[in-house]
Amino acid sequence: MQTIRKKLSILFVTCSIIAILLIILFVNITINNKFDKYMIDIQNKRYEGIVSYFREVYRRDGKWTDSSGIELMHEAYMNNYCLALLDKNERYVWGMNPDNIRNNTHINTMFKSNKGIYNSKRFSIKLNGEVVGYVDIGQYSPILLSEDDVNFKKSINRSIIVSGIIALTVTAAISLYFSRQFSIPIREVANMSENFSKGNFNMKFDSESNIEELEILIKSINVLGKKLKYQDMLRKRLISDISHEIRTPLNVLQNNLEAMMDNVLPVTTDRLNYLNEEVIRFGKLLNNLDILKEFESEGIKLNFERTSLDELVKDVCKDFYMAAENKNIELYYNIEPDKDYIIMADKDKLKQVFINLISNALKFTKKDGKISIDLYSGNKNIIVKIKDNGIGIKKEDLPFIFERLYRGDRSRNQTVGNGIGLTVVKNILQLHSASIDVESEEGKGTVFSVFFNK
Ligand code: ADP
Repeated sequence: MQTIRKKLSILFVTCSIIAILLIILFVNITINNKFDKYMIDIQNKRYEGIVSYFREVYRRDGKWTDSSGIELMHEAYMNNYCLALLDKNERYVWGMNPDNIRNNTHINTMFKSNKGIYNSKRFSIKLNGEVVGYVDIGQYSPILLSEDDVNFKKSINRSIIVSGIIALTVTAAISLYFSRQFSIPIREVANMSENFSKGNFNMKFDSESNIEELEILIKSINVLGKKLKYQDMLRKRLISDISHEIRTPLNVLQNNLEAMMDNVLPVTTDRLNYLNEEVIRFGKLLNNLDILKEFESEGIKLNFERTSLDELVKDVCKDFYMAAENKNIELYYNIEPDKDYIIMADKDKLKQVFINLISNALKFTKKDGKISIDLYSGNKNIIVKIKDNGIGIKKEDLPFIFERLYRGDRSRNQTVGNGIGLTVVKNILQLHSASIDVESEEGKGTVFSVFFNK
């Protein structure tokens, strides 16, 4: 198995090598072709120069002699070509021996394979439109190159190869860098998910990626980690809450029963009643868990019907007047008049929502407090606000109050409760496509806002 980094590096480098080799090949072929063309042009110019030189000699002398243009022989010898002068009847006036230049050490031919094959071209010398003679120019290669020409060609080829090698090194370095950009986040994400599978949710991937898909991957693994951590914390809390709820009545039962068996405490009706209450409390906990199970199972059936929300809220409030009076708490409701509060709802279940919210408000509001219930209609929603000036909710408890069996520490110590009221509220509202919000300040009070779609 190969790492993604190795795979990507190999891919990048292979592509770069192919691209660079192709570029080198094309540049080389193009430059060589151009250079050859340039050298052929120069050679043609030389041929023209030789012919016109002989023409001038003939114009000057009016005839061909053994020494006509013989001074060109030295230059021809030095530049590796052979000259032969012929009169108009194509009879040799004078000529160089091709063997003399065959073994010249300064011979450079462009086409090594052609070395040794002597080629000669015949050019006519014309004066006033009349052919007065011929010159043969022969050489051992199609193009003659000087030492400088060859060096120039070699240096160009060397530069192309060197720039190819530099380009390859640079692309290899860049591809290594870029493959790291891919491989590091992917390896890190793989590492994190492995840790998650081992139950270690405290990991966070801090660095960012400028590759969109990888950035999304990093963000989602971070969100996943957060959610798993949150769920893990809730699970632990749920277990500790349940064991706490069970242990308290069990301890009371066990201690009292043992004391009675050891005759430390007399068996009285009062004591038996007290113990029975603990058993009932214990049973209540199991009932509550059953209620939760019912709401959290998907198969729950709701009996939707046209419901006047204002009537429903009014009815629930009426049921609490007595309890509020007993605690000397002012309970009143405000319903914005002339509005339509008809919604489709399961009346009994929805009543349970407001019963739970108002009973919480009563439970967590001290004597002489104030509870108000407001019902009004917004643009898109019907809103019910349950506001109290009670003990409020600690900031750190706020995110958890809708979780199963969650109870704020203060309420756990001071008031009766089971921590499922708000979970049930949330579940019922979800089934009605409604939502709930809470704002609270410790010591000042709490506002629960319920939003129903119109
Ligand atoms: P319970 O009331 O049985 O404890 P709930 O699920 O109804 O369970 O509420 C969860 C927690 O939310 C309570 O324990 C309490 O800490 C907090 N809470 C709910 N309503 C209020 C309120 N009106 N004022 C202050 N705290 C509240």
